[in-house]
Amino acid sequence: MIAALSRFIFLVCLASAAAFIALYNWGPEWAIFSGISVLSMPLVYSYVNLARLRRYVQSDTVENMPLPSGFWEEVFFRLQRLVKSLKQRMRNIEQQHENFIEAFQASPNGIVMLDENDQIEWCNSISERFFGLNYKRDVMQRINFLIRRPEFIQYLTRRSFDEPLLLERMGTDGSLSLMLQAFPFGNQRHLLLVQNVTDLQKADAMRRDFVANVSHEMRTPITVLMGFLETVQALDLEKSQRDQYFEMMMSQAQRMKSLVEDLLTLANLEANSLPAATNKLNAETLISLLRNDAEALSQGKHSFNFEVASSENLLGDEREILSAFSNLVSNAIRYTPDAGSIHVKWSVNQDGQGEFSVTDTGPGIASEHLSRLTERFYRVDRSRSRDTGGTGLGLAIVKHIASRHQAQLMIESTPGKGSTFTLRFPKERLTA
Ligand code: ADP
Repeated sequence: MIAALSRFIFLVCLASAAAFIALYNWGPEWAIFSGISVLSMPLVYSYVNLARLRRYVQSDTVENMPLPSGFWEEVFFRLQRLVKSLKQRMRNIEQQHENFIEAFQASPNGIVMLDENDQIEWCNSISERFFGLNYKRDVMQRINFLIRRPEFIQYLTRRSFDEPLLLERMGTDGSLSLMLQAFPFGNQRHLLLVQNVTDLQKADAMRRDFVANVSHEMRTPITVLMGFLETVQALDLEKSQRDQYFEMMMSQAQRMKSLVEDLLTLANLEANSLPAATNKLNAETLISLLRNDAEALSQGKHSFNFEVASSENLLGDEREILSAFSNLVSNAIRYTPDAGSIHVKWSVNQDGQGEFSVTDTGPGIASEHLSRLTERFYRVDRSRSRDTGGTGLGLAIVKHIASRHQAQLMIESTPGKGSTFTLRFPKERLTA
């Protein structure tokens, strides 16, 4: 205030001095002119500075404007500081906004923001894929015009979002199962979160099938066993007849035992996430163990050829490898009719991979079954499998063991001629 007053007094003194000098030299008109000119100097100074400010404001570069000296210096300095801090705040807000968008885009879940009229304000690319949306095209469109599933429209209309909604057969090829839930936020707006639950649904269906299959497999021998028990209990049988019944009961009990054992083997394999051991397994020893078991199982009904064509040994878990190999050999024996022949071979192929193969002259398998043989409880001929003590789990176990050893199970078969089951091990699993 004092500075402004002293500046004003100084200006008045200067104008008076100029007026006096002019009056003395050129007369009264010049005195008035000189006085007014000096007094109007601050106006000119302000005008020039304001004109410069206008230019910088128009080009949105106020913060780059050189500061004038004098009265306007402080005003412009403060203005520049304000503009700089506002711009910085805007940049920070934009950065935050971008971070949010990036985070939402990185989410594996679909995210859709709806306004109070259920119009799409924003959606991430996953939700575009889930629902066939296109953000640029569909922004501010009502979502119920774009997702036409009746259960979804009902869900939106009901306005009760405590429970999620399951949408099946979604996606362009109808292969997706989506779990969707709306969460209210802000002023009557909603956030739709969409999770892809296709794998969970599949696993759930597989679990249900598995339980149903196991129950079914167990129920048959239990029912038969109970029938025999009731008969033995109710009838006064002769010893030879009773022995016959006991034998049949034993075979049903044996069937249940095999099933439980195979289930446990499978469960253990699935639970064991550690990589398969790398013990050195001698091929000759493995083959001779298989030969003993095979001859006992066949009881002279088949002719065998056991061949060790390579001296390379296998690196693996002995119990698992023996289980996989003997499953293949026992299948060949069980499915090949009497007098058929079975060839079991260990060799190394041209690419240096180890191959264990079992070839039989059995009934063979039609090509449409081949890809499904390793599914649990999948059988081509159910009664043949049961009659020979099969559980329907053997090849599922083989496949598990193979993948734990990075091996591949290959099946070649010609109906009426026979089959070859081959386990191919990578080079890294072989040793001298
Ligand atoms: P199973 O206990 O029924 O033998 P697997 O999983 O071992 O179960 O085999 C699945 C199905 O594959 C069998 O039910 C059978 O139909 C078929 N199969 C397996 N090995 C042979 C083979 N060597 N010859 C013909 N069919 C076979």
